[in-house]
Amino acid sequence: MESVTIDLKQRLQEELDDTLAEIIRLNERLEGKGDYGLGKGDPGIYEWEMCLALKQRAENKARSLEVALRKAEEGDYGMCEICGNPIDPARLAILPHTKRCINCAQKK
Ligand SMILES: [Zn+2]
Repeated sequence: MESVTIDLKQRLQEELDDTLAEIIRLNERLEGKGDYGLGKGDPGIYEWEMCLALKQRAENKARSLEVALRKAEEGDYGMCEICGNPIDPARLAILPHTKRCINCAQKK
């Protein structure tokens, strides 16, 4: 049980590091906005907007991962926020930042 928790924390940290690195990469591309010579109808604007959308998604993911990491440190990581039961470790392995067990996730 102990080693599972450590593995999950490590996974979360690694995924957070990857996500933060992606945000930095996207920021660099976004700062190059001038290079695209943006104007209406410029094909570069599409790529720029794609980068922006990817960055926003990465930022949301980083926030979820930070919450999950904090929970892991507090020791209540892997507990469902709805029913309070432990989340299946197999589910956590696929979705490390999930907050709901499979049963609650399927309920609408
Ligand atoms: Zn649940």
